[in-house]
Amino acid sequence: MAEHSPIIVWFRRDLRLSDHPALWAAMSSGRPVVPVFIRDGLVDGLGAAPKWRLGLGVGHLAESLEAIGSKLVLRSGDALTILKALIEETGADTVLWSRAYDPESVKRDKDVKSALKEAGIDAQSHLGHLMFEPWTVETGQGGFYKVFTPFWKSVRGRDVPEPLGQISSLTAPQEWPETEKLEDWGLGAAMRRGADVVRPFVRLGEDAAQDRLAHFIENIVDDYDTKRDLPSEDGTSCLSENLALGEISPRQCWHAAMRRMNEGSKGAETFMKELAWREFAYHLIWHTPRIATDNWREEWSAFPWNEKENAEVTAWKQGRTGIQFVDAAMRELYVTGRMHNRARMIVASYLTKHLLTHWKIGLEWFEDCLIDWDPAANAMGWQWSAGSGPDATPYFRVFNPVTQLDKFDKQRSYVSRWIAEGRSNPHKDALKYFDAIPLSWDLSPKNDYPKPIVTADAGRERALDAYEARDF
Ligand code: FAD
Repeated sequence: MAEHSPIIVWFRRDLRLSDHPALWAAMSSGRPVVPVFIRDGLVDGLGAAPKWRLGLGVGHLAESLEAIGSKLVLRSGDALTILKALIEETGADTVLWSRAYDPESVKRDKDVKSALKEAGIDAQSHLGHLMFEPWTVETGQGGFYKVFTPFWKSVRGRDVPEPLGQISSLTAPQEWPETEKLEDWGLGAAMRRGADVVRPFVRLGEDAAQDRLAHFIENIVDDYDTKRDLPSEDGTSCLSENLALGEISPRQCWHAAMRRMNEGSKGAETFMKELAWREFAYHLIWHTPRIATDNWREEWSAFPWNEKENAEVTAWKQGRTGIQFVDAAMRELYVTGRMHNRARMIVASYLTKHLLTHWKIGLEWFEDCLIDWDPAANAMGWQWSAGSGPDATPYFRVFNPVTQLDKFDKQRSYVSRWIAEGRSNPHKDALKYFDAIPLSWDLSPKNDYPKPIVTADAGRERALDAYEARDF
């Protein structure tokens, strides 16, 4: 390895300068560092909202690198071809990146690593997106965990290394390779008029994520146990969009929570457990990649789910089912790019159980609309809700979206925030929905609020009959 040849750091879903082992290794070598982001097929294949949000994140990272005298080189095309071209242009002999675990990234990274190694390049992947590598968490029999509770018991006491510090300078190469312009990539194109509506709800970048973590640990986490299920409360971290893009690392969250837990906060421990759910989702997708595309429990393949875009599905997507909890949640999604966890469970249950519609339709809609879209958590969440996943809610447990409202939104604050129809003085956020949706939906706050397309009780009966007919 030449002493002065540059090191390429390939950024993907790790858009930060602190606790970044790959970048830290490059910086510590003292050699010039060429940070790069590649718009490859995986980026082009993202849904509208995650692609737009990624574009914001990449722009922000570029600014952070410039602030420490470095740069982010932007290139589009096949990842291996681009990396080889950059190696040729810069004389780099090392490429470092943070490991990814979803099937498409795993395949790409394997191919890139073996081709680079064959070409004599030192290609290394580092831990960064997770705390526990999926292959290091094993049951007593040597297999992987399919149920969360034993997974949690196995990882909760593990030693998670302290996060690495912030990088404050990087040696620049003698000459910077050419870069493309982020604006030319059009990553936000599919958001159309929705972008202006969602933008104020975005928490962009590493500093904002760190501020939120500090605020959450200081002011919110102690009540996390009681408030995290109430969608009208600011009761959770709301860090999923930052975790999804690596603007904050899981171990930064873990250690902040652990310090609070050691001061006696029970809520902080529950928060750590949720971070472990994220790890579990990656554990599952790494060991069984088919969770992203096929019923994890194969017996569900014979279930006659609706797989078509019919009027019920359209009503679900548009937040016009006439079931208030579902509609409020679907509109929250459209306006903020996020949805409260309790609400995600309700809308997923309503789609897959009351409407007997395939979870893949919901998964794909979330994939298009969520700014915190995460391939592992989304797949696990949908299969959990449908009953087809490994550690899933039992298929015969059908959430009642009406009684759930009485339990989790007693004052109806959540539904009044998001539903405008039938109200003389709608909430400003409820009106934003009509500025975000495509004009072709032709909806107005002056419309009547719809009657339920399928009531809570009738849908439950229908679902239970369908399950009985399949004799699971
Ligand atoms: P907090 O309650 O503050 O939790 C802290 C972090 O732990 C979260 O940011 C997240 O990274 C992780 N986490 C919490 N709950 C879960 C969970 N059930 N599964 C996996 N990780 C979890 N989460 C996503 O990040 N992206 C998705 O695309 C996604 N899709 C989902 C789809 C469905 C149908 C369901 C039921 C859940 C989905 N989730 C997804 C999980 C969960 O709803 C969100 O992580 C959570 O609402 C994010 O809010 P928060 O950051 O305030 O979470």
